[in-house]
Amino acid sequence: MSRMQISVCTTLSRDMSFFGLPSSPNQQTTGPANKRNVNPLSGSQGPELEKVTSLSDVVKLPLGEDVNEWLAINTVDFCSHITALYNTVGEFCTPITCPNMDAGSTDEDTLADAFTTFLPRTVSAPEYVEHLTDWIDTQMGDETIFPRKPEAPFPPDFKDFVKRILKRLYRVFAHIYRSHYQKIVCLEMEPHLNTCFEHFVLFVTEFQLVDKIELDALKELVEKILAP
Ligand SMILES: [Zn+2]
Repeated sequence: MSRMQISVCTTLSRDMSFFGLPSSPNQQTTGPANKRNVNPLSGSQGPELEKVTSLSDVVKLPLGEDVNEWLAINTVDFCSHITALYNTVGEFCTPITCPNMDAGSTDEDTLADAFTTFLPRTVSAPEYVEHLTDWIDTQMGDETIFPRKPEAPFPPDFKDFVKRILKRLYRVFAHIYRSHYQKIVCLEMEPHLNTCFEHFVLFVTEFQLVDKIELDALKELVEKILAP
């Protein structure tokens, strides 16, 4: 597989017909939009995350593929999808509606670790996402971390870079589910959100990329996805 094209998060905008276009082969929706209006975090009446057994296979390292290449391709892909999902509700996520980055019970303890050098401990959700996308753009634009030339090696600690990126992207998932799910429903985006999230959880679990304490921010959904 050829070295991926780096497409930074901020190149996406909510004006893109992202969801009307075929996404990557790994990001197929699980069926027709089934309008639901109950937040999945609220219990059994929430939308069931439809099991797509193929997703479990899709996340696995393809035969002969370099693991770092596989991590890089998927990380870039997840960044694009999560950014697009957030952008669909971005206009409803303001410093007034979301003065704190509500991303689950762990955020009070872990939010600051991402940007301790230049962010105050408490930032609004849109500020957090803005800084996050800038930070990810910087990471992905650094060819010593995400090399573009096929012959260029990945750094020895590349997986650690991926883990930091995916951990913070997970918080955006958590914020969307916890604070903007009703808007996602109104936009009939929940099948895509759920499928993207299921793919993400299966991938980070397959390669042990996000700690359990972070995943617990959406524990109920994660358990449904990982249930045997
Ligand atoms: Zn928000």
